[in-house]
Order: sequence, then C-alpha cells, then structure tokens
Amino acid sequence: VSAVGSFWLSPSPGKLPRPRMVVRSNAVSTPMAADMRAGLAVDGGSDLKMILSYVDTFPTGNEKGLFYALDLGGTNFRVLRVQLGGKDERVIATEFEQVTIPQELMFGTSEELFDFIACGLANFAKKEGGKFHLPSGRKREIGFTFSFPVKQTSIDSGILMKWTKGFAVSGTAGRDVVACLNEAMERQGLDMQVSALVNDTVGTLAGARYWDDDVMVAVILGTGTNACYVERTDVIPKLQGQMSSSGRTIISTEWGAFSNGLPLTEFDRDMDAASINPGEQIFEKTISGMYLGEIVRRVLLKMAEAGALFGKYVPEKLSTPFILRTPDLCAMQQDNSDHLDAVGAILYDVTGVKSDLSVRKMVVEVCDTIVKRGGRLAGAGIVGILQKMEEDSKGLIFGKRTVVAMDGGLYENYPQYRRYLKEAVTELLGLEMSKNVVIEHSKDGSGIGAALLAASNSKY
Ligand code: ADP
Repeated sequence: VSAVGSFWLSPSPGKLPRPRMVVRSNAVSTPMAADMRAGLAVDGGSDLKMILSYVDTFPTGNEKGLFYALDLGGTNFRVLRVQLGGKDERVIATEFEQVTIPQELMFGTSEELFDFIACGLANFAKKEGGKFHLPSGRKREIGFTFSFPVKQTSIDSGILMKWTKGFAVSGTAGRDVVACLNEAMERQGLDMQVSALVNDTVGTLAGARYWDDDVMVAVILGTGTNACYVERTDVIPKLQGQMSSSGRTIISTEWGAFSNGLPLTEFDRDMDAASINPGEQIFEKTISGMYLGEIVRRVLLKMAEAGALFGKYVPEKLSTPFILRTPDLCAMQQDNSDHLDAVGAILYDVTGVKSDLSVRKMVVEVCDTIVKRGGRLAGAGIVGILQKMEEDSKGLIFGKRTVVAMDGGLYENYPQYRRYLKEAVTELLGLEMSKNVVIEHSKDGSGIGAALLAASNSKY
C-alpha cells in the first residue's frame, strides 16, 4: 500500500510503472484487532468506538405480524414493511420505497431532516393493504436503522455522537435520535413507535442470521463503511459484568474511524484536510464509495499538472471536488471495448478533453490502483475482526464455517472491488483457514433485519 504513496509522489510523464499493491500480513489486521480490544475495554479507549448494540437475542424465525423498518444511512432513506408468518411461512410479503435526501437537508436543521423522513414514512404507511395486516389494538412498530455513530442507551434509544458521510445537520449531535424521530412523527400526526434502534450493519447481521446461523460478522460498504460482529459478553470489560442472557451481543465496531498505522498518500491527506471532518473517519476515506472517485480525481489532477495526462493542458473542471464519482470508476473499469469508448466518454464529461487510447489506459490503471487498495484494505479489516474473535474463542471461527455478510452499493456494484477484497482475505488467512470463511452478499438484509429486531423486541 505504501508503494502507492511514493509512486504517485513522483509521476514520470508518459511512463507508468505498474503499481505494486501488497497489503503486508498483519499491517492492518493486527492493529485493527488491538484497537477493537482497546475500544471494548473502556469507552473512548480507541479510535474504534466498539458500540454496544443492546441486541443480545437474534431473530429466531418464530416472529409473526406486521413490522416496519426505516433506514437512514446516506444518500437515500428507505421505508419498508414486512409481514412475518413464523417458522413455516417466514417472510410472507415485503414492500419498500426509497426517497433521495435533498442535498440542502444534509446541511439543514435536525427538525427539517426528521420532518422530511417522518413525512416519507407517513406517505408510505398510508398505502398499506393487501397481505399486510396489523392486529387490532396494536401500534405499528418500527425498526429504525440509523447508520451513524450512536451511543446506544437501550434497544430503543441512542445518542448521536457525530454525523459522518457528508452530513452536517445542526442540532442532532448529543440528542436521542429516537426522540428526534418520535417528535417529528408527532408533528406529522403519525401514530407509530420505534421498538428497536439499530445500526445498518447490525440490521444486516440480524437479517442474514435469520436465514443462516453461521453469520458472525456483517460489513457495509456503501457511501460510508462499518462492520459489526457477534461478541461474547465476558470479553467486554466496559460492560462491567452486565451479562446478557445469551452471553452474546452484537458490537458495532465503527471501523470507519480506524487509522492506526494506515499508510496514507498525499492524496489521502489533502482530501482529508479539505473534508468537513478532517482527521476523522480515515479508514472510511480510503475504502468507501464516497471517496474512491475523489482520490482518483486528485491523482489525475496531479498527473495533468505534471503534464502527464493531456500535455500542457490542465482542464479546469478536473479541479472540481467530487466531480468524478465511484460509479464512474466502476463504469470505466467495465469498459472492454477496443478503444475504451466508455472511458473516453466519462473523461470527456469530467474534463472536457477528448482523450486518446494511451491516456484512457492510464486512467483505468489509476482507477484500478485506488480500487485495489480500497478492496484490499477492507479485506484486511475483515481479517482483523476474525482474528480478534478467534483469539478469544480458539477454533470457533476458523475451525468451522463462519459467514461474513456483506452489503452496500459499493460492494454490490463494483466487481473488481469485490474481487480484490476477497483475494486479500484469502491471502492474509492462507488457503486452509480461508476455506471456512464465507464472504456472502446479503442483499438489503438490513431493512428486514431491522424489522425482525423490532419484532423480537416488540412492546407487545
Ligand atoms: P448508502 O448511501 O446508504 O451507503 P448504498 O449502500 O446504496 O447507500 O451505497 C451507495 C454508494 O455505493 C454510492 O455512494 C456509491 O459510492 C456506491 N455505488 C453505487 N453504485 C455504484 C457503482 N455502480 N459502482 C461503484 N460504486 C457504486
């Protein structure tokens, strides 16, 4: 990884050495495991907050009835309803809607954002019918997936510590986000109640485990990133002896904040300095969808300024932050045409320059370098979590089938990223150990997972 830094620091015009991408064994996974322990020991003990989820019973399959989920995690929020039929019928029906959050609400007030969400939820609830039935005398219960760092205080309350992923809403940090939602629902005249507040990774883990008991870890790679896992309560010192009846609980690592020993390039550092949260979420800034395109843009700009891209011409547009998006990188890497026409079209959009084939090839190579680094670092992070679990429960992770449930738009849509991530896991664990580790896409498990957790924590 560090090779990327020194290589790009001195671009030699016209001649690109092949980037060497080697995540050395232990360089990321061991500090990750150590930071996990430090975060479990005491609140604030590490960059990794290791947040208690208060989820200590997992869905059993016996859950029955109508439940809602509301998912706020990034560029969109989603509402979902599910009719659960117990062991035999399982999921009878689901329906969902997705609403894009207007950019201005990401920088507005807490009331504006939560009113917008409650209004979306009210519109969705109005359309309930068909296979969905609420037993009389019951309120509609919601599993609220809120994928920002929250200090959970119970299964249905939690304080927002800070916004991430480009959100900078005023008036929410330090408040209970369930109360914020409840107040907004009241303002909308909507009679629903939150029964479970869950992180999207926790929802993904619960949703995946509903179908497969071997799921132990869940990772989201979308606009931002996070990972959670099933932990033994007896190895969580900060619980101070409060054991759950199952002896286990889900911990949200908040691994986006990891930074211990991460090799960073000048592009990472400059992007971080220009971000709305400098010095924070460093791992997220090297592996998640919000940032990969921006890192590539910064590399291309530097190449252009060094005369290594379009001769002496430096396109002004290329100086616009975030003009190159991660889905653009993905589209460029899927271009198999002889002349890389799709690459040319995207480059034209982003720079206004008509490029020749050699430039297009270079650009694809830059994309591949940054995406390879991102995928491999994410893979190394997963190995860190598995290592930590194995250290405490010898043989119970690598000695049997262990499933890592993956979700998020980046993982789902970017085949090269997925491949690099899996390769790194296999490489770091070795063939023998990695045989038992299954990395599995759990599509949209988080919504159903949240609804399942509302069911298993129902007030009725
Ligand atoms: P969230 O915004 O809640 O994380 P998603 O999990 O759907 O939502 O992730 C969306 C992110 O996934 C986008 O911000 C983008 O970075 C990434 N993404 C979406 N589509 C693609 C794609 N085709 N190729 C690469 N990345 C993509």
